[in-house]
Amino acid sequence: MSHNKPIWVLGAGQLGAMLKHAGMPLALDVRPVDINENHAPTLAADDLVTAEREQWPDTLVTQVLAQHANFVNRPVFGRLADRKTQKELIDSLGLATAPWRNVANDISANELRDQLGERVLLKRRTGGYDGKGQYWLRAVDDDVPADWQGQAIAEQAIPFNEEVSLVGVRNRAGQCVFYPLTLNLHLNGILYASIAPLARLQPLQSQAELMLSKLLNELNYVGVMAMECFRVDDQLMINELAPRVHNSGHWTQAGASISQFEYHLRAIADIAIPKAQILGHNVMINLIGTECNADWFGLPMAQAYWYGKQVLPGRKVGHINLVSQDVGELRTSLQQLKELLPEHYYREAIEWVLKALDTAG
Ligand code: ADP
Ligand code: MG
Repeated sequence: MSHNKPIWVLGAGQLGAMLKHAGMPLALDVRPVDINENHAPTLAADDLVTAEREQWPDTLVTQVLAQHANFVNRPVFGRLADRKTQKELIDSLGLATAPWRNVANDISANELRDQLGERVLLKRRTGGYDGKGQYWLRAVDDDVPADWQGQAIAEQAIPFNEEVSLVGVRNRAGQCVFYPLTLNLHLNGILYASIAPLARLQPLQSQAELMLSKLLNELNYVGVMAMECFRVDDQLMINELAPRVHNSGHWTQAGASISQFEYHLRAIADIAIPKAQILGHNVMINLIGTECNADWFGLPMAQAYWYGKQVLPGRKVGHINLVSQDVGELRTSLQQLKELLPEHYYREAIEWVLKALDTAG
């Protein structure tokens, strides 16, 4: 194998764990590191470093990992982790995205509404995730709340038809490979379910690939990146970019001959990245804020992942991948899963998936 040195991962959450798992068949020594460890590991000169998150505080661990000469894509993280510079990058390449303004210290809510329209969404420039770090300007707001001034961007509300994402990988030679577009359901800003592939999204595939390849090439990026989009009729509009493996790509663990985690490792370790074979119709259901249920592991066609984290409201604690070449079989399995998910919003998500599967083709 072309790489037998450790690959350190900045962060030891579920993405790090799944990267480690994906490295095993390739005998890659993937080592996620908790950024709050009391002592930093000792890295050798030809080790590799990657990250499972786009942003991190200064700690003993992050100082050592982020300053290593082989930290892949290092300049990209800061640029994409700040929504302002991320939007500037997207604009500079002429790619469609929700119209936006920087929320300067002295800007009023009315000015933002004049420029962007009646419905304006404030997003913190850094640190937001799962819909956290967002604030809808209310009709009664004259001023931007003080703790958002100078720290946010404002976006026009997009009346999208639905949300899709593209996960792609680029290697050091500049070769790019993409998965089929994935349809995503977000509730309260949190991803609940993903479906791929969908025949009706195929006409948008080349548009999406062109957009993401422009970004990957501009950044000279190596590894997996995800592009979240709004579909507005037959146009895609970029919502946000993630310079890492992404929740909407988890279905590839069961549904593709090469998962997004393996692609990321292959790209950074300079191992071939042939186009992955898609193994069937795929559904991924996120497990959010719910206790582990032993019956999940008995579902047919299901691959359940439990992250072993403390269960908190709104927290992603696991996911279930379902794959089948037969949509009918997938439906049956989903109906069973529905009974094993207590809260009403799971029922909402499963109903959404069943409806979307009508167009699986
Ligand atoms: P996060 O980092 O929390 O994922 P996003 O920017 O992706 O932040 O926003 C989370 C969700 O909020 C999106 O998936 C979408 O459902 C909704 N959203 C974000 N921006 C807009 C917008 N401009 N118009 C309408 N809905 C939006
Ligand atoms: Mg998002």
